[in-house]
Amino acid sequence: MPNNFPQPERVLLIVAHPDDPEFGAAGTIARWVQGGAHVTFVIVTDGSKGTADKEMTKEKLVAMREAEQRAAAAVLGVQEVVFLGQPDGEIQNTYALRELIVRQIRTHRPDVLITHDPTMRIFQNMTLNHTDHRVVGDTVLDAVFPLARDRMNFPEHEAAGLEPHKVLDIFLQFTENPNYWVDISATMDLKIKALCEHKSQIGEPAELEERLRQRHGERAEHVSFEYAETFRRVKLAG
Ligand SMILES: [Zn+2]
Repeated sequence: MPNNFPQPERVLLIVAHPDDPEFGAAGTIARWVQGGAHVTFVIVTDGSKGTADKEMTKEKLVAMREAEQRAAAAVLGVQEVVFLGQPDGEIQNTYALRELIVRQIRTHRPDVLITHDPTMRIFQNMTLNHTDHRVVGDTVLDAVFPLARDRMNFPEHEAAGLEPHKVLDIFLQFTENPNYWVDISATMDLKIKALCEHKSQIGEPAELEERLRQRHGERAEHVSFEYAETFRRVKLAG
């Protein structure tokens, strides 16, 4: 199902953990950057639970994952990375977290916003979706509508110069219900390179590359691409 690929000027990606941007959308992001987009990554949690290493400390891991995420973003040409520093594995869709997200939306004013598909609970009856992925997806959508749009929500933002902002084009990643395929054949190498920056997470780079080429090759089976990233795209009417 080939489709017209938009070229937004401003893209905001809000996800749970360091490495979620690259697993979900790096090939698409690289294309937008190459087309001249300004891209901001917002990482909601501090990634502080992502290790099995008994020698690792929380402080070391948080610092390491932040550095890895910055390096991965640099590979893709992403201009800004924001860390909200919420505790990994513990976040909830609270009004306080919504305020942090609304602030990001009103600050960065995206034409396209990428986040997690909050409706995903189980993948292929084999994998449980991470709580943080669901919660972040849910919180971000609650922030888009109605909170970021309507000025009476968080009036302190307007007082500080942050105007309300309407997000109309949403790409949901980590979904089993895609309706949008992006051709990442030309940016697949960059996606792999960016993911290899997440050294604390990925294991053997050659195995990761093989897995990614297989996965994104399979996702392109519906379309005439070599490699695809898939999204559930939601275009709001206004
Ligand atoms: Zn994650």
